[in-house]
Amino acid sequence: MNNNNLFNLYCDIIDFTESTMDNYMFVIDFENDIYHISRSALDRFGLSDNHIFDFVNTLEQVIYPSDYQAIRNEMTELKTSSRAIHNMQYRWVSQNGSPIWINCRGRCIQKNGKNIIMVGCLNEIGAKQKADNITGLLRLGDSLTLPQEISDSYFRGFLIRINVDDLRGINAKIGTDFGDLAISQTSECILSELESDQYVFHINGDEFLILSMNHGDYNDARDLFIRIRNDVEAKIQQKGFLVVYSISAGIVTSSDLGDYSFDSLMKASEFALSSAKSLGKNTYTRFNIEMYKESLTKELLANQLRSSIKNDFKGFEVYYQILTSPENKIIGAEALMRYHLPNGSPVSPADFIPVLEDTGLIIPAGKWILETAISDCLKVCKYNPDFMVSVNISFMQVLKTNMAKTVKRALEKYGLPAKNLMVELTESGFLESDLHYQKTWSRLKSYGIKMALDDFGTGYSNFHYLNELKPNVIKTDRSFTVAATKDEYEHVLLEHVASLAHTLHCGMCIEGVETEAELELAKALEPTYIQGYYFGKPEPLSSLLKRFS
Ligand code: C2E
Ligand code: CA
Ligand code: CA
Repeated sequence: MNNNNLFNLYCDIIDFTESTMDNYMFVIDFENDIYHISRSALDRFGLSDNHIFDFVNTLEQVIYPSDYQAIRNEMTELKTSSRAIHNMQYRWVSQNGSPIWINCRGRCIQKNGKNIIMVGCLNEIGAKQKADNITGLLRLGDSLTLPQEISDSYFRGFLIRINVDDLRGINAKIGTDFGDLAISQTSECILSELESDQYVFHINGDEFLILSMNHGDYNDARDLFIRIRNDVEAKIQQKGFLVVYSISAGIVTSSDLGDYSFDSLMKASEFALSSAKSLGKNTYTRFNIEMYKESLTKELLANQLRSSIKNDFKGFEVYYQILTSPENKIIGAEALMRYHLPNGSPVSPADFIPVLEDTGLIIPAGKWILETAISDCLKVCKYNPDFMVSVNISFMQVLKTNMAKTVKRALEKYGLPAKNLMVELTESGFLESDLHYQKTWSRLKSYGIKMALDDFGTGYSNFHYLNELKPNVIKTDRSFTVAATKDEYEHVLLEHVASLAHTLHCGMCIEGVETEAELELAKALEPTYIQGYYFGKPEPLSSLLKRFS
């Protein structure tokens, strides 16, 4: 057979066997500079043809730029030397531009000691492992691994995403062998309960996905999960409690979702499982579209907040609400965070503050408002040197950062005396055991900063804290003020709080005074400060300054 015929024969074999493999086979004709590769490489790497002439130059478009010269050298060497083996790891570039590591191996056919044809194969090194040697199940990495008949048919059943609770803890505390045992046992229990048209996949470390494509409603799914859970418990007993663990599940049925694309089903099952996990271990939850939409909205808001913060706090603003004496003299102001979306619409603090706290973004945002408030306070101090700015600090900031140091540094940076600053913390942070919280509190107090216990009287007030923390000020919430004007018991309670504050020589700020009646009630309690719409709504610095000039 002449060289041309031999090359064409290999091309035909590649075309014929291409659909039987995940790898890309190739053959090179060194004499005529032709390269032929499996057609599946076209989609993966954005090649325009799988039969390539002048191949060393043409392949430059798909080989990762910094690896190209090495391939050029290799090909020149193979053409001119008698080495018959090619074995290299380098990168190609995928259709969407990302580098793909491949292992490329080839063997040359020689004539008169010279390489004339090379036959070989390209393997993607990072390709997903689709089977799992612990459970023997298929892995579900992408839709390609769904059995064809499933991905093509109509979804009329349910999905259950099962999670082995705290697998990481088991691996860490008892050992990975026991973690593997928990996984393989769970897999056995699932398999023993499935009907012939129900499938299970091992998705990742601790998760399984059961797919009932054609039948079953929520009750069937729940009953199936409960049977599996009972099996798991029985197995744990049977094996003498070698490893004790529980499983949780998120359930999605075909009536829960309008969109049955592979992606949205995966996301829905993920969401249902994470809702179950948030309830604790050993439980199950059904997918709830309203909650899901809410979480997507929060996620969107979190992304917007994050990019605003990166973008020098664009969209963030500080408003100030004045604190007055009962005689209506301005003593200070509380700094309150405001946020506008890029399209200009305002977001309520009740919506964005919890998102900042959940995402940890309250740490940079809290530092920003602290510094802004301190530097703004200096501007007001020009008119009134005793003016006091009050800044809210979240539980999260105290827990995750060294707030005492942050506040001290901020004061030093701008040169504001500590007496001009008040810090507001809510009592919900003070679990008796939380020493760090109490330490931060006392350290801040020792710097001469005024410490206010915010939202006092809402939730579970623990009067012991008053003695332990000795706040400079307690702030009672608007809900307390409103309730006291309507309900005698609440009124008496508020009076007791006031007299307790007086006895402990601790200041009191009554918040949320809106009406004449509320003002009368507040004044009778002889508080140190009153704060509320009656005296002023939160306003930008410019209008606060106008009050003095
Ligand atoms: P808060 O610390 O209790 O702040 C007082 C809230 O009551 C403010 O709401 C204020 O506008 C509102 N308010 C004051 N007087 C009246 C009144 O007479 N009537 C009514 N209806 N409301 C009044 P805002 O600004 O919406 O803030 C809500 C919450 O968001 C704050 O409650 C605080 O917990 C949080 N927040 C605001 N800014 C920050 C901040 O910079 N850091 C942290 N960690 N939390 C903040
Ligand atoms: Ca406050
Ligand atoms: Ca408050």
